[in-house]
Amino acid sequence: MAEEQRTFTTAAALPRESGVLVIGAGTMGSGIAEVAAAAGHPVYLRDASDAAIERGLGLIRASLERRVAKGRLDAAERDAILARVMPAPPELPAGLGLAIEAIYEDLQAKVDAFEAVEAMLPADAILATNTSSLSVTALAGRLARPGRVVGMHFFNPAPALPLVEVVSGHATDPIVADTVAATAQAWGKTPVRCRSTPGFIVNRVARPFYGEALRLLQEQACTPAALDAVLRESGGFRMGPCELTDLIGQDVNLAVTRSVYAAFDGDPRYRPSLVQRELVDAGWLGRKSGRGFFDYGPDAIRVQPDDAGAGLPSPRTVHIEGDLGAAQGLVALLGGLAGVTVTSTPSPDAPAGRGLLRVDGHVLALTDGRTAAARARELGEPVVLFDLALDYARCTRVAVAASDADDERGLRAALGLFAALGKPASVLADLPGLAVMRTVAMLVNEGAEAVFHGISDEAGVDVAMRLGVNYPVGPLAWGRTIGLPNVLRVLENLCAAYGEDRYRASVWLLSLIHISEPTRQEA
Ligand code: NAD
Repeated sequence: MAEEQRTFTTAAALPRESGVLVIGAGTMGSGIAEVAAAAGHPVYLRDASDAAIERGLGLIRASLERRVAKGRLDAAERDAILARVMPAPPELPAGLGLAIEAIYEDLQAKVDAFEAVEAMLPADAILATNTSSLSVTALAGRLARPGRVVGMHFFNPAPALPLVEVVSGHATDPIVADTVAATAQAWGKTPVRCRSTPGFIVNRVARPFYGEALRLLQEQACTPAALDAVLRESGGFRMGPCELTDLIGQDVNLAVTRSVYAAFDGDPRYRPSLVQRELVDAGWLGRKSGRGFFDYGPDAIRVQPDDAGAGLPSPRTVHIEGDLGAAQGLVALLGGLAGVTVTSTPSPDAPAGRGLLRVDGHVLALTDGRTAAARARELGEPVVLFDLALDYARCTRVAVAASDADDERGLRAALGLFAALGKPASVLADLPGLAVMRTVAMLVNEGAEAVFHGISDEAGVDVAMRLGVNYPVGPLAWGRTIGLPNVLRVLENLCAAYGEDRYRASVWLLSLIHISEPTRQEA
């Protein structure tokens, strides 16, 4: 893709003959050493003990064996890579251009590890940290040559995952960040430049994916299985938030959230969840403990979400009033429904994206961040809302919520329509913004804040989220597809519904949109 090939720099990559020192030969250090050796550098491993270095070499050997077994590497290449990785001698060799630290996550320990080698390295050597959460500026401030200190944040497993966040602290010399970006590129990675702030890009912009899901569960939106199914099948995310946090470890995910929350001095956008704390307090940490949101015991049966609407009759008529905005893709699908009379009126007075469907006379509309009950009050009749989908043609599930639990006919009409389109539905409690729209609006907002604060640029945020956490599309590109004014309306409605600063819109969005006051007040 074009954005993956963005050139960042005119600086040259570290020459291949230049040695790379890797400090800490654990999970990340061994992976980084493998990547550097595969790119042709002599690599020196330094760890707290000989046994740890042996373990690190073993990890590299095992990783290379797996690549050979998969036919991605031949035995001669494996041997050549292994021959380039060696334990660092106490007196470091000349010609080291880059030292990458991947020891445990503690600022003073990282300072000490660099101080132990700094004097033995050439004056122009680059000191890179693989920290996930510590400030690159804080580390640089404690070292002799702050301008040479930079973040080089790989993702686990480093040999397989393409993203490297190249993190500049306040003092990082631009040529240092440029060289590291060019080097990451030469190593077959996709570097994304960013500034040192809590969570950098990925671990910060991803917070709402977990945070909104956990809130929805706390607000009794639906079961964890239904929430996962909606975000996967409608939102296009590879995994739902409950199964994903079970995989990451509820304790690990909570610790990252807590660290970002603390680093932002308690900004409510990052507030940790009571639901998650309960899981952690119970020791239900996810896959590794055999139980998290779901059970992973030997006899566990994978919980399936309900499929509402199966067997319900198709509606007879669907009338489209106005422009459906982010759900406009549904119109073409409706045209293909056999036995359903589809009519439309342009509704020129309604603002773009504010249209609705009448399904056998019952109102069905895309969520705009208000509850169905609030929409029903505005329209003076019951409303069923449906959720955002990444692609209505390809999604295999849609979430809905009804303004009135007693409006069975309206809900049956909506479910019958989605069943006719081959999409089972998940019925959620009537909460503002439903699941996908609320999550995506908050991801867009977080990405917007990252751009507003100069952490990265728009393309950088999108590439990082696609490559770092496998999002189906970058949040800001997604926001532009939905329509940034529509995203802003969702955020403003969420803000009004909850009365919480958590949902305040980024000034970047506000300034980009220039929505006229009358339109904003209608929302
Ligand atoms: P790890 O525990 O697997 O490895 C740490 C290694 O550092 C161990 O081999 C340990 O013996 C060694 N070590 C400890 N103190 C040392 C010292 N003073 N000098 C030399 N070696 C020392 O940890 P990890 O998961 O590889 O994480 C390392 C760093 O990478 C952390 O900063 C972490 O936040 C970051 N990170 C981790 C991941 C991940 O998914 N594991 C992803 C990205 C970044």
